[in-house]
Amino acid sequence: MDQGREAGVHRARRRPIRFRTQAAGWLAAAVALVLAGGCASRRDDDLYGMVLDVRTRQVWGTDPELRYRVHDVLEASCEQLGLDPSMLWGMTLRIEDGAIDCGPVENARGCTWRDAGTVAVSTTAWTTCEPPVPCVEDTPIPHELLHVAIGDPQHLDPRWNDQTLWRSLAARLARPDCSGDPPNLVW
Ligand SMILES: [Zn+2]
Repeated sequence: MDQGREAGVHRARRRPIRFRTQAAGWLAAAVALVLAGGCASRRDDDLYGMVLDVRTRQVWGTDPELRYRVHDVLEASCEQLGLDPSMLWGMTLRIEDGAIDCGPVENARGCTWRDAGTVAVSTTAWTTCEPPVPCVEDTPIPHELLHVAIGDPQHLDPRWNDQTLWRSLAARLARPDCSGDPPNLVW
């Protein structure tokens, strides 16, 4: 935007004097546009450059609001976990049904391949006797985002067991159509 404004100024200076008033008017309009852009409402369906790959057959997977809800999960998780959202740029977030093949971890509900830029989460509930999770907030996206931030596949960092951290994050993500299950190590 600033480059455009500068180019506009230079064009105006090269114009003959009789056009100066008109050029100034255009410039004022351009400045107004820039200012309006600066005040535009936040894009709350923005996923910080992540590509959303929805492969689940759960009903909520086709909810038109899904993208907005994923945005809110990403936003809250980044803030609570201290994750720089620019780290998510170009990554893929895959939501799928069933267990996820995650190296030595059997029946994983989520996996993060930082080098490949991929995060996968499952709709499987964290207790096997439960049906699939009823909402995207119940998938382990926050857990996987801490892996994006710090790696740590062995979960050695104390943050994994910080109940204050996870409970306050879960409170931000509470929705009436979710399970209400308390967060745990695997979310
Ligand atoms: Zn993990």
